[in-house]
Amino acid sequence: MINVFVLDKDHKPLMPCRPARARRLLKGGRARVHKLHPFTIRIVDRTLAESAVQPVLIKLDPGSRETGIAVVREDVKKMHYALFFINLRHRGASIRDALTARRQLRRGRRSRNLRYRAPRFLNRRRAEGWLPPSLRHRVDTTKSWVDRLRRLVPAIGLAQELVKFDTQKLENPEISGTEYQQGELAGYELKEYLLEKFGRRCVYCGKSGVPLNVEHIVPKARGGSNRISNLAIACVECNQKKGAKPIEDFLKGKPDLLKRIRSQLKTPLRDASAVNATRWALFNSLKATGLPVSVGSGALTKFNRHLYGVPKEHWLDALCVGETRRAVFDERMQVLEVYCAGRGQYKRTRTDRYGFPVAYFMRTKRPYGVGTGDIVRMSVRSGKHPGVWTGRAFATNDGSVVMLQPDFRVRGRAKNCTILARNDGYGYSLTNS
Ligand SMILES: [Zn+2]
Repeated sequence: MINVFVLDKDHKPLMPCRPARARRLLKGGRARVHKLHPFTIRIVDRTLAESAVQPVLIKLDPGSRETGIAVVREDVKKMHYALFFINLRHRGASIRDALTARRQLRRGRRSRNLRYRAPRFLNRRRAEGWLPPSLRHRVDTTKSWVDRLRRLVPAIGLAQELVKFDTQKLENPEISGTEYQQGELAGYELKEYLLEKFGRRCVYCGKSGVPLNVEHIVPKARGGSNRISNLAIACVECNQKKGAKPIEDFLKGKPDLLKRIRSQLKTPLRDASAVNATRWALFNSLKATGLPVSVGSGALTKFNRHLYGVPKEHWLDALCVGETRRAVFDERMQVLEVYCAGRGQYKRTRTDRYGFPVAYFMRTKRPYGVGTGDIVRMSVRSGKHPGVWTGRAFATNDGSVVMLQPDFRVRGRAKNCTILARNDGYGYSLTNS
């Protein structure tokens, strides 16, 4: 089950509806299909003024490979009800690889006849706020999806996970000595802070990727305090092995390690908010939309997730971002997987491994009006698979169009195709939440 976006007759967004209702509206002739991905209908006999809309928020959990997006309805008690989930898969790695390949070819070409030349000018300054193209892509596609969603739902605000933990909630982290109860928000913030400070690995054995606990260096049984200068991160095994022993006994014979841990304990985390340039760039571009942007820490997201019993997924993290009284979602809801596919190649030739051209790409991306990536309906009269087929087209230079079906491929002509949706640079599929 996945909700359907609804527009009024002037293309203004209304509240999304259930698929059954959309089917009824379409059958009764009261609505048209406006867009295939994400599926959107347009009601032909009603305007926004005649409809009731509720406040909708777009919430984001930006990640390096995937960004979770949750569209939620907010009620007066600040409870958040999920309306739509998107998992946006980025293509930073393929952008990086393409640029590396280009750089290497250019370098090879340059140095073939010119072994070394000192730079003639220092004119390669980078603009303020510059991000590498693979990271810039992350910010731009996420922003682009926020813009798309704003045309489909009556959004009144945005929410984003900005930092890993919130130092404000710790009240002077390096001296504060409050004991946090299990399940208290400040406890989550404290643990995230310590994880960041010790690089997410055990201070004693250096293991990472295992469950890590908060460790008292001077054990509580020996009067050790709860101050952050006495706290570290350790794996369960080391934590139990150390028990109530003083650290000098536990690390007998390892004076270097003892010295390193002692100095680490005294050094506060240099950049307290663990700044992530991409997230800040996204935050600034979201602010530029003019909508209010509320932000939360990763620790708050985790806290909400545990409090409301929500499993760990990117889109569910997005639902739990920021301050919310409750996070409600229907387990039958499907997630729209959006895969950044790009819009084809910039280069016009394929090269061999020495950089010589061996094949040329098509001059035009849309020969005979159909481009690769368009969703088309194609009628095929002869050949192995006659009939009417719908799917993603692969355009070739001679006017023939190839379409992949689950276990075979259909070949037809561009002139027998009706374009249902032009390539927008994304691939779509549905998965179960
Ligand atoms: Zn350990």
